[in-house]
Amino acid sequence: MKNWGGNIDIGPARVSRPESLEELRRIVAASEHVRVLGARHSFTGILTTAGGYVQLDGLPKAVDIDTAAGTATVTAGMRYADVATALHRAGYALANLASLPDITVAGACATATHGSGDTQQGLAGAVTGMQLVDPQGDVVDLRRDVDLDTFAGSVVSLGALGVAVRMTLAIEPTFDVAQSVQVAAPLDEVRDRFDEVYGAAYSVSVFTKWADDANIWLKRRTDRPVVDLELGTRALSRLNPVPGSDPAVCSPQLGVPGPWHERLPHVRAGAIAPVGDELQSEYFLPRAAAPAAFTALREIGELLGPVLHIGEVRTVRGDDLWLSPAYERDSVAFHFTWKKGTPHLMPVIAAVEERLVPLGARPHWAKLTTLAGAEIRSGYRRAADFQELREKFDPQGKFGNDFVDELFSTGSL
Ligand SMILES: Cc1cc2nc3c(=O)[nH]c(=O)nc-3n(C[C@H](O)[C@H](O)[C@H](O)COP(=O)(O)OP(=O)(O)OC[C@H]3O[C@@H](n4cnc5c(N)ncnc54)[C@H](O)[C@@H]3O)c2cc1C
Repeated sequence: MKNWGGNIDIGPARVSRPESLEELRRIVAASEHVRVLGARHSFTGILTTAGGYVQLDGLPKAVDIDTAAGTATVTAGMRYADVATALHRAGYALANLASLPDITVAGACATATHGSGDTQQGLAGAVTGMQLVDPQGDVVDLRRDVDLDTFAGSVVSLGALGVAVRMTLAIEPTFDVAQSVQVAAPLDEVRDRFDEVYGAAYSVSVFTKWADDANIWLKRRTDRPVVDLELGTRALSRLNPVPGSDPAVCSPQLGVPGPWHERLPHVRAGAIAPVGDELQSEYFLPRAAAPAAFTALREIGELLGPVLHIGEVRTVRGDDLWLSPAYERDSVAFHFTWKKGTPHLMPVIAAVEERLVPLGARPHWAKLTTLAGAEIRSGYRRAADFQELREKFDPQGKFGNDFVDELFSTGSL
């Protein structure tokens, strides 16, 4: 079995599919090493284990709404697509979603997955509580308002603290979004008018191949005043972010309003291919570094263009989650969808990193990087605290793997 991108071998290890919490607890307790498979949309060794895997899609699914608390407690292995549909039906919404909804809540939060929006944190920012199965197979509850010392270290966990079985998420009343696209916006103007561009809608994504121009995807809440953006021209037909690709897989555009969960992701639920024709990298920088990063990437546009399906720039509000790449800083995220099969891709990624690391780049946990563990770790002020937390939760390293051990084990200090 492989990951969605096909670049990580999940290997011949046995995959268990428990159908109850008790069965999961027994499997975890009896395993020497174990890791959860979510939707396998990660592109890094974060997915792997020297032991067995558990897949949680056989566990009973639930979305329990607590209207007084403004939260929903959901089965952690559910996909956002299913959680969002249930929430919307009940009159509720999450603040944001990633570019596709076919990823699990636990898998996405473990890797600090995010969408875009000046006022929205990554998806893990919505988590107010979690239930984990620990290495002994015991169930541990963690709450933001109770576990004041450790909660912020436990949500973006890289899967290293335990098996998340329930997640409690902040919700709000449902809302509608109208999506439209401005095409052929001069890239230099996007850079020079960065705050205006990203302030023009609830969620804004700029797609570019780092040549002269960009397409700007604007996702406007219909319950907020409309801010006009006079940059580029308004698209008159539906688009795919990747030029020439099928627009039918994408969420509705052309300003037609509809429910939040059918507009915030770029891609419709269940619409993308089961195996990807792409690889991905992404870097979070302090928001203030955006103009310098635009200039730096434009300088290597000729190197990037031929190997990119598309690049995307998004904004993410800062949070307090220790291993979030947006930890304590409002961020701009530079994403690269690479053509799969590109020879010598890693040197291209290294060229990007050479320019973005001096600007404060922190790589996405689930996406390709050439940076060594020690260099990545040095970007996280709470790295040693996370390591301590890991040693407390999982002293034998049952949930560890090479990826996590390189970053957060005694040798990595
Ligand atoms: C087409 C595509 C689009 C993407 N778009 C975005 C995007 O818009 N924004 C963004 O930030 N990222 C994006 N990503 C990256 C993606 O969101 C992350 O890879 C995310 O982790 C995927 O979730 P998953 O369910 O596939 O988790 P997996 O990749 O299966 O797992 C990720 C990690 O979480 C752990 N894990 C999973 N479930 C649990 C659990 N229950 N308990 C403990 N640990 C667990 C796994 O062991 C693994 O370490 C995209 C990826 C693809 C392929």
